[in-house]
Amino acid sequence: MKVPFLDLTSQYETMKDEIHTAINQVIEKTAFAGGPFVEQFENEFAPFCSCEHAVGVGNGTDALWLPLLALGIGPGDEVITVPSTFIATAEAISFCGATPVFIDIEERTYNMNPDLLEAAITPKTKAIIPVHLFGQPADMDPIMEIARKHNLYVVEDACQAHGSEYKGKKAGSMGDAAAFSFYPGKNLGAYGEGGATVTNNAELAKTMKMFRDHGQSQKYYHGMIGWNARLDGIQGSILSAKLRHLDAWNDARRNHAHLYTKLFFETEGIITPHEADYAKHVFHIYAIRVKNRDRLISTLAERDIFCGIHYPVPVHLQQAYGMLGYKKGSFPIAEKCAEEFVSLPMFAELTDEQVAYVAKNVKELI
Ligand SMILES: *Cc1c(COP(=O)(O)O)cnc(C)c1O
Repeated sequence: MKVPFLDLTSQYETMKDEIHTAINQVIEKTAFAGGPFVEQFENEFAPFCSCEHAVGVGNGTDALWLPLLALGIGPGDEVITVPSTFIATAEAISFCGATPVFIDIEERTYNMNPDLLEAAITPKTKAIIPVHLFGQPADMDPIMEIARKHNLYVVEDACQAHGSEYKGKKAGSMGDAAAFSFYPGKNLGAYGEGGATVTNNAELAKTMKMFRDHGQSQKYYHGMIGWNARLDGIQGSILSAKLRHLDAWNDARRNHAHLYTKLFFETEGIITPHEADYAKHVFHIYAIRVKNRDRLISTLAERDIFCGIHYPVPVHLQQAYGMLGYKKGSFPIAEKCAEEFVSLPMFAELTDEQVAYVAKNVKELI
């Protein structure tokens, strides 16, 4: 049996007609850059996140960068985030001219440890970016409480957490703004690049809409220096079609995750993901932790089972961020997890047989 890490073809097969209709509509109207299909998707995605506004942008990195800029974050400012994330979280901070400041994660949820937050706040701190890693929200109540006390903005990195919940509240609805990525492999993925920022702040949404379109609200009249960060029409139309299936896909991912966890129950040498009491986890990634993962991954690949690593090097140890002066040992939990994580095959269309086959082989090799 062959089990890919991710299989975008099988999802396409289940909704071929819808995808082709979505694409053809845009071509018929030649509404390629921004336009009515992007607007329609924004009007659907905002309520999906329990938010007032959604602003479609070019990718998830734009979706993080734009709200930071619109909130006025710039040179001399510090933004607190975690090293256990994709580098884009830190890049968005750097491309405002600000400095990322990292704090370690909790060992059970792999998300920001709120107990470490206050000690990292300085007079330069302007914002906090909690990352909802692997599809499970960070512990938002204490993070929001500390942010309000110190007058800091919170931008949620929800790029892996479409549809997940914290105490019944949708990921993306708790901070001042939240970023989503529609990179093809995400729980809601475009057929190309895409992203969106959601917010309940009308002024912020308006500024971001101007910024993503060269600072213009009327064509060729530029009120501010902006950028081109538009979402394209074909992606907007495809995302509208796919959004209708997202809850069902997330449920399927949850079922696969629960089956994996059941099959690994009390297996020595495997740490399975923990779903916090407060969370509805949407399992963008199902990562186990093991020792000696390289041999496990290569032997599984010989048996046609394909895994990933998210992420092998925490951001504070990346060469790109060497100038920040962090060292091995700066964030022991993030570093230990980065050495042990193995992401097992996870996508909605997996079958129970495939999950069982993966679990059987992993257990055998451990
Ligand atoms: C995917 C991702 C991003 C960036 O999204 P792109 O669409 O690839 O730019 C940012 N943060 C996290 C946590 C992600 O997983």
